[in-house]
Amino acid sequence: MDGVGEPLVSRMQGFGTTIFAEMSALAASTGSINLGQGFPDTDGPPAMLDAAVAAIRSGGNQYPPGPGVPELRAAVAAQRLERYGLEYDPAAEVFVTVGATEGVAASVLALAGPGDEVIVFEPYYDSYAATIALAGAERRAVTLRPSGGRFTFDPDELRAAVGPRTRLILVNSPHNPAGTVFTRAELEAIAAVCREHDLVAVTDEVYEYLTFDGAEHIPLATLDGMRERTVSVSSAGKTFSVTGWKTGWVTAPAAHIRAVQTVKQFVTYAVSAPYQRAAAYALRNELAWVEDLRASLEGKRDRLITGLEAAGFETFRPQGTYFVQADIRPLGFTDGMELARALPGKAGVVAVPTQVFYDDAEAGAHFVRFAFCKKDDVIDEAVERLRHLG
Ligand code: PMP
Ligand code: GLN
Repeated sequence: MDGVGEPLVSRMQGFGTTIFAEMSALAASTGSINLGQGFPDTDGPPAMLDAAVAAIRSGGNQYPPGPGVPELRAAVAAQRLERYGLEYDPAAEVFVTVGATEGVAASVLALAGPGDEVIVFEPYYDSYAATIALAGAERRAVTLRPSGGRFTFDPDELRAAVGPRTRLILVNSPHNPAGTVFTRAELEAIAAVCREHDLVAVTDEVYEYLTFDGAEHIPLATLDGMRERTVSVSSAGKTFSVTGWKTGWVTAPAAHIRAVQTVKQFVTYAVSAPYQRAAAYALRNELAWVEDLRASLEGKRDRLITGLEAAGFETFRPQGTYFVQADIRPLGFTDGMELARALPGKAGVVAVPTQVFYDDAEAGAHFVRFAFCKKDDVIDEAVERLRHLG
């Protein structure tokens, strides 16, 4: 500590290094197959990549407008309207962020503060907890539990989590890592709580296109009385297989966008201009490519599940995202963190221990998450290695 004391501000102590960084570093240092951090091992649509190059080559390399380049804001508004029937004014109700991560962070920082409570569904995406802590707010977790082969919540538990200090509810559907796509009935239960207690919902919809078996992604903002109280977040990373582009967007009523902008402008000011132009191109022109991606991921999901089941895991068939939750107990293990750290040595494969996404450690202790956004032969090799685990 060099005699200077802990430099990290107290509200961020305990967050350490993200599990994704830890597990990807472990994969690299052991030469393991990385089914941990969720990123595809193939590229996005070629014409979209060309659009990014063209944007750089044509001189679009200086600061773009803080709220985003007009063509991306217009493309996002058109996408929300065409796909979901949601109308947003591109000039006042669409806002571009550095990925969905910044979209969620700026929204939470803008809308919750010290003394406020924020409801999350656990297992929750790790940045939510850190962002709520940064805001000085407190999180209240509602646990998604297995029921009928999928993870869901008890509406009574949700209602019980709301108190006089609750300000926000964070809703991720399709849900990482549980794979749940909330049904209309589940969303209605959330919406009812929001309306009754005057809460704002921040929705993380980064997997909006990646749903399987006909499961339909329903934006919370489409439910009665919700457009006016929902801040919706999405991004290009998962939809177009460009997780490194970090280009996302927020759609919300103008007052909420102004709040988000007030925070975001002092964090990053603006978002990389060429990627915004390429994302605009992709939203308008590459949705057929996305449908092919979705269909291929459905096959990869089944491929991975078949292999994991053969290796002895109990799996939960996700209706969306590109992750499978696997119960490790049938193999004789009980602690997912311990297993995830040992897995490279045991099998040359990396997974993510889901317990780090829970406040209720008991509920998540025995799950690990595997990503299937990988080439078929990579999935096959991983499950072959895992067959010798039990
Ligand atoms: N939310 C969820 C649920 C995610 O899985 C991820 C990872 N893509 C993100 C947000 C981050 O998205 P982005 O890379 O656009 O910041
Ligand atoms: N969203 C990716 C996942 O869930 C990881 C993103 C990150 O590394 N922060 O695996």
